[in-house]
Amino acid sequence: MSDYIVRATAADAQVRAFACTTRDTVETARDIHHLSPVVTAALGRLLSAGAMMGITLKGERDLLTLQIRGEGPVRGLLVTADAGGQVKGYANVPDVILPANARGKLDVSGAVGPGILCITKDMGLKEPYVGQIALQTGEIAEDLTYYFAVSEQIPSTVGLGVLMNRDNTVAQAGGFLIQLMPFAGDDVITRLEENLAGISSVTQLLSEGRTPEQILGQLLDGMNPEMNEIIPTGYYCNCSRQKVEKALISVGKKELKDMIAEEKDVELNCHFCNKNYVFKPEELKILVKNA
Ligand code: ZN
Repeated sequence: MSDYIVRATAADAQVRAFACTTRDTVETARDIHHLSPVVTAALGRLLSAGAMMGITLKGERDLLTLQIRGEGPVRGLLVTADAGGQVKGYANVPDVILPANARGKLDVSGAVGPGILCITKDMGLKEPYVGQIALQTGEIAEDLTYYFAVSEQIPSTVGLGVLMNRDNTVAQAGGFLIQLMPFAGDDVITRLEENLAGISSVTQLLSEGRTPEQILGQLLDGMNPEMNEIIPTGYYCNCSRQKVEKALISVGKKELKDMIAEEKDVELNCHFCNKNYVFKPEELKILVKNA
């Protein structure tokens, strides 16, 4: 198990916290989508956040979607996560190249631009839960902190990071999410602020060989942290030919017949894993017949 999420509580459950290491997950996304470094950082941060938020879903089939639509050159990012720690995602424009920002870092904010963050939780009810905010910085962690405060009324701190190697593969990726419960005392808040001020960045800590458990230990120092659970996480697409067939049938018999009349193969691409599904005219005929 390389990538995983740790779930913890501290200060007699006044605080709940998550931390993750997601290098392989983000490297898989980079490889599948041929992402440029800045888009790897942007999507990698969102994937890491999705992994930690996904495991808070209650139902096995519940699905979390984090979507960013922005005016920057990447246009948009989409990540879905499930309760089991599996994530997948894509960027609308995967190959954006931008100069480093003023701090010499990958300019995620510049790639995303002003826009919105929309979070959907599909919990199998008639209507999914939807929360939407205006992006605050486009750096993603700050935007999520704002989302939790405004949309879910949970005071939170989010840290996310992706560090690239010189050969443009992913060196480190991960994050943390710390949330205060409504009954959290001022002493807990003060201590947490002190601990946060004392750390550099997630990728710095991971580069130094720190594990997610150790990162949480540092963030929750002096608050009796309890590591409750370790959950493996990874990049996983659950598309299948059967699902693509269903999608094809849903476009309608008339449209399918038009496709058949063109006597050409129909090629469908999965946005999440880049797999191509090819349907020959005779296969489409069988679909129409069985529809
Ligand atoms: Zn797929």
